[in-house]
Amino acid sequence: MHTTRTVPARPVLFAVLAVTTTVPLLLTPHSASADPQPVTRESAGDQGGARNPESAALRALTAAAPDLSDTSRGYPREQVLTPDPENPADKSIKLGLTPYHAIAPKLNALQRLGDRVSVEVTGRSAGGHRLYLVTVTAPESTARARAQERMRELIENAPAAAAKSREIKAGYKAPVFFNNNIHGNEWEGTDASLKLIERLATAEDVKTKDLLSHSRLYFNITANPDGRIAGTRANANGFDLNRDFVTASQPEVRAMRQIEIDKQPAVMLDLHGYVNGTLIEPTTPPHGENYEYDLFLKNTYANALGMEAAVNGLGYTPAKDGVEPAQIPFRDQEEGWDDWPPIFTPQYAAFHGTVAAHTVEIPLAVNNEEYDTLPESELRRRAAINVDVAGAAIRATLNFVQAERTSLVADQIEVFRRGAAGAAQVPVSEETVPGVPGIGPEDVYTTDFPRAYVIPAAGSGATAAARLVDHLLANDVRVTRASRDFRLGGETYAKGSYVVDMRQPKRGLANVLLADGRDISDKVSVMYDISGWSLGRLWGATVTPVPSGSLSGAPLRAVHAAAHVGYVAPRGDLRLRLTDPQEIAALNSLLQQGVSVRRAADGSAIVPASARALAVKAARAYDVVLDATRETGTAELRRIRVAAAVTPGELFALREMNFEVTPVSTAVLNAGFDWSATDVLFVSAGLDRDALTTGARTALDAFLGAGHGLVGRGVDGAELSTATGLLAAKPVEGNGDANGVVRVVNSGPVTAGAPDHGFVYAPVWFTDLGPGVRVEQSYATGNPLVSGHWRPLSDGSGGPAAAAGQAAVVSSPQAVLFGTEPLFRDHPKGEFAQVGRALFTMAHASRGSVEESG
Ligand SMILES: [Zn+2]
Repeated sequence: MHTTRTVPARPVLFAVLAVTTTVPLLLTPHSASADPQPVTRESAGDQGGARNPESAALRALTAAAPDLSDTSRGYPREQVLTPDPENPADKSIKLGLTPYHAIAPKLNALQRLGDRVSVEVTGRSAGGHRLYLVTVTAPESTARARAQERMRELIENAPAAAAKSREIKAGYKAPVFFNNNIHGNEWEGTDASLKLIERLATAEDVKTKDLLSHSRLYFNITANPDGRIAGTRANANGFDLNRDFVTASQPEVRAMRQIEIDKQPAVMLDLHGYVNGTLIEPTTPPHGENYEYDLFLKNTYANALGMEAAVNGLGYTPAKDGVEPAQIPFRDQEEGWDDWPPIFTPQYAAFHGTVAAHTVEIPLAVNNEEYDTLPESELRRRAAINVDVAGAAIRATLNFVQAERTSLVADQIEVFRRGAAGAAQVPVSEETVPGVPGIGPEDVYTTDFPRAYVIPAAGSGATAAARLVDHLLANDVRVTRASRDFRLGGETYAKGSYVVDMRQPKRGLANVLLADGRDISDKVSVMYDISGWSLGRLWGATVTPVPSGSLSGAPLRAVHAAAHVGYVAPRGDLRLRLTDPQEIAALNSLLQQGVSVRRAADGSAIVPASARALAVKAARAYDVVLDATRETGTAELRRIRVAAAVTPGELFALREMNFEVTPVSTAVLNAGFDWSATDVLFVSAGLDRDALTTGARTALDAFLGAGHGLVGRGVDGAELSTATGLLAAKPVEGNGDANGVVRVVNSGPVTAGAPDHGFVYAPVWFTDLGPGVRVEQSYATGNPLVSGHWRPLSDGSGGPAAAAGQAAVVSSPQAVLFGTEPLFRDHPKGEFAQVGRALFTMAHASRGSVEESG
């Protein structure tokens, strides 16, 4: 899964593709009984900037996942897939594995084998490839399929009744989900699944028939076709899909999310590589505090033991095959492989009622350096063993499901029952989770769920509130809306407010998305990936947790979509606030259509009355408000073209705001770059001035020297600013592993109207500010960390105390520098507009004459 990093790490490293070195982590075995290899973290070393196709970004931004809850048909649901064009460059071929173009014909053949195999297309990848979901089950009449769906709904929506249902106990087919190849260069889950489907399609033994009569097996054949074909971890947008489940910016992730919601698997595997010996979750602490972790651990651990036995039982040895025995992090390690953030597939799945969910890392590396350097015969030997190991894990899981079906379904029902009833979580211990040895206080994480979250729908955050509500609904979180003013927990809330009643089946998901999270810096020394996120703090809407109170009698109605807030005043000039990414997107759209827009003193945009018709279209398209204004504005705002040396997440976020972006990098500039079509430069990664040829450096310096502005983020941005003398300040690097949600204080025009929270990864702050340098934003005093993991370095420097009160964002007439991560992986939507405003301000910095003429 889990990629990882040398220390210190930069967030850009997660988002890129190449892996160069591995470093062992210091992990202490839990027990002496196993002798696992230490888990190693892959470290990505590509310093290149993102260069992803605009078409992929557009596809990702517009695609919706199809509804997979079709109840009008039974099984099989066969469909003949049209062929994909043959691609001899598919990276699977060298490994002797199934290239993407061979999957559709293979699935057609598997469907022809009998009446057990069905194929659905669940969407398209960022690169435009179909995503195939195979269902294997005994044939079902339409009536039988309807009954199954009715039972599924009962389990989710009326869990107390479902717990007593004899029909469910006797007849509900346990849904099981095998997710393959989410990292495109971890191939073999796909091949193992295809092999197994072939066997299941025709096997006539009693055991197989019984299995298929009592379960539905879902196989996401390849979750990442773009990466499978190209031999990359990421999809065509450069996104690590196994980091995207909180944000769901990518179509492949939305498709997986829909499978989780519509199929409601009780058990799932997410097949990855490569850790030798095979790594099988459950994980080390910290464990996410929103799970019903007692139920999850019981089942996940039990299935892990079965998978371990099956994998070890294949008979591969270290001496003969280079295959080490399997390892289970929960049992075998202290820390370093956690289930804290629900950005990973199995962790996200738990919030949809999956009670046994595993990352499985098959053993033998065939990607990256190995792919390029090992002989083909060795690669194929390794790949064949990996297919075998993945197959053993899948078969063991099928045995587990067959043996434990009623108890797995009962535990899923109990997850939803606790949520709906507002019941307390059950802290894990050797008493509450019998059968799992070694549970200690270090494994206990629980939370106090608030009674509700209230999200006001009106006011300046209306666009953000609507976006958040739609995102919650897409995650199958229930949201209601107040039809009149109401009181809760001693406060009055306005009519129209959205309310998330936390007594709901998926309360864990609602809370893990909306809550602040927790500062876990003192819990473990190292975290696998991000430790903080919060839609409540970072997505721009006001989200108020209400700890207690009664909702009975409250005037609340369920909503299925947020109400549109787009509005244009009927007469006069119009004011468009620029504090939300959708407002920036609307502005860019108007500018691209030639509308003459001016900047107001407060940083908003003035759209003339004459452009009302276009403003109405933009308000509708971007769900934004254009109020009447009497201000005429100062400078003209012009359409701007951005050259950007940034991470894939940042590039995607810029395109989400409709910026016209040309990706650049050291290599692109060295190849000779024409700066004449660029208004502003944005640098956070992949552009090293020292590595430029003399000609390229001269051209860059000339561009900046001519008064064009720079927006920089992190150390790379600050270094370029220092080298070119655009802003006098000393960047200070905090702990490179630190990340999370921080409190900030905004104090300048670029950050006007921004939330008082931000996201950091490898935080940077600025000292020794020269004359003319303005503090736009500071880290809050005290401990700025709200949630996440941020420790000082061993010498005491680099911690949150050192950052407290320091400048996090600074500006000069020619540069804006961010020490925060306002576009990180497309996540903190509420912060995006700071970058939008910075780009507009800097693009116009060079046009002093225009500024004066306004
Ligand atoms: Zn992986």
